[in-house]
Amino acid sequence: MLDLKGRVAVVTGSGQGLGKQIALELAKRGARVVTNALTGSHASDTLAEIHAQGGDGLAVPADVSQAEQVEGLVQTVLATFGQVDILVNNAGTTRDNLIVHMPEEDWDFIQRVSLKTAWLCSKVVVQSMIRQKYGRIINISSASGVMGQKGQTNYSASKAGMIGMTKALAQEVASQGITVNAIAPGFIYTALTEKMPQKILQKLMEYIPMQRPGTLHDVAYAVAFLASDEASYITGQVLSVDGGLAMI
Ligand code: NAD
Repeated sequence: MLDLKGRVAVVTGSGQGLGKQIALELAKRGARVVTNALTGSHASDTLAEIHAQGGDGLAVPADVSQAEQVEGLVQTVLATFGQVDILVNNAGTTRDNLIVHMPEEDWDFIQRVSLKTAWLCSKVVVQSMIRQKYGRIINISSASGVMGQKGQTNYSASKAGMIGMTKALAQEVASQGITVNAIAPGFIYTALTEKMPQKILQKLMEYIPMQRPGTLHDVAYAVAFLASDEASYITGQVLSVDGGLAMI
């Protein structure tokens, strides 16, 4: 089940947090995984863990908000492995503030890092997926994009945009053997959520029907499923991995 042997996966922003766990999970299931981070050492650290668990892959540092660096990353992957079967658009970040205090620069920055990155990577990777008539694109959105979150007008908009992009691209490539889906995690403990004020975290826990944060594994398993052949008839969907948060 969920065997990814023979597949090549690219996971953006996989030097830490969710991206790292996703990379490890896909590698455990047999995929050769391209780890990516802004810095080479972070990408290499994740690759070292993949090697330690018996897997294979490649570390490619790149800022995936820059078109030339995305081109370079994909060319390196194609030159090394000859294919890209799975793309996980995971890179993203937050710069929270109430709208009245949010500088315009923070709006622009978040659209670039949490949305444009996914568009740029999909645009380049989908071209080789179309040639090979196979592909899985998985966009890591957020419950904030589904429900909206106070203090996150920039981030909620970027993650909602990612859902629209997922559905639009899914329609463009559905006849080519390529599926495009989004995962909307709720609250998962990572470096990203560490930054959230304690008061907001406590309030959030009250709203989660399962009354616990999610784990990195909860999200990584969902990615492995959507990346697998077993999920071949699922496209344009948003899978919430949030303990029931978004159904409220
Ligand atoms: P994180 O900050 O721990 O990891 C994000 C990674 O992306 C970092 O390693 C960062 O260096 C990398 N990154 C940022 N910009 C990049 C760029 N331009 N090029 C390459 N790499 C870049 O955060 P995380 O919690 O692991 O989040 C991963 C993804 O999941 C993000 O898209 C985030 O929005 C989403 N998400 C997280 C949660 C949560 O609760 N943690 C919930 C919903 C969605």
